[in-house]
Amino acid sequence: MKQGLELVVATKNKKKLKEIKELLAGLNLKITSLQDYPHGPRIIENGLTFKENAVKKAAKISRFTKKITLGEDSGLCVDALGGKPGIYSSRFAGKNKSDAQNNLKLLKSLEGLPLNKRKAHYVCAVALADSNGLISVVEGKCSGLIGFSLKGNSGFGYDPLFIIPEYKKTFAQLGERIKHKMSHRYRALEKAKKIIEKYIVKQVAS
Ligand code: IMP
Repeated sequence: MKQGLELVVATKNKKKLKEIKELLAGLNLKITSLQDYPHGPRIIENGLTFKENAVKKAAKISRFTKKITLGEDSGLCVDALGGKPGIYSSRFAGKNKSDAQNNLKLLKSLEGLPLNKRKAHYVCAVALADSNGLISVVEGKCSGLIGFSLKGNSGFGYDPLFIIPEYKKTFAQLGERIKHKMSHRYRALEKAKKIIEKYIVKQVAS
């Protein structure tokens, strides 16, 4: 098949990129990322919502690459913490801290709380933009519970703590096949896919 339209994913996070590529498989796209544009502009994530940050990423990088660009912003919102860490999920334990340090801080923050008080949800916002501006922004959510210890090796970030109640296992235990059928990223990208498909049709027709 002829190589499709280039879509730039505005991320340097390799694990996120891998998930996004897997979830967009099936669309005739050549998917690139910020690793392919090392001289691209710096993105300042100072939005107040996931959607705002996703739009910033897509808008800034599409202006630079002149290609349709996907901006993704995601995180974990914990009910008992009033929705924290939210948009600060990647830096919950501080700037440049590891997933392990963020997980440890989360466990400490919830110390003493029983499972029914450990409700949380992941959010993923996906924005699409091209050199003419914003095309669309969509969101997906996935609910779960925060466990008492790290379990499993798959996924990234808070996945070893994020329990899916119906399976009684964490995303890190369940693995990609199940995560990709129910995650916040899957839900947001299913919506984004429809928009990309329409965009491809328009490009081919013009
Ligand atoms: P962002 O790169 O600013 O969007 O930060 C996203 C952060 O949210 C990640 O570094 C993780 O800490 C967390 N996060 C988002 N999605 C997931 C996921 O699917 N699994 C685990 N952690 C996630």
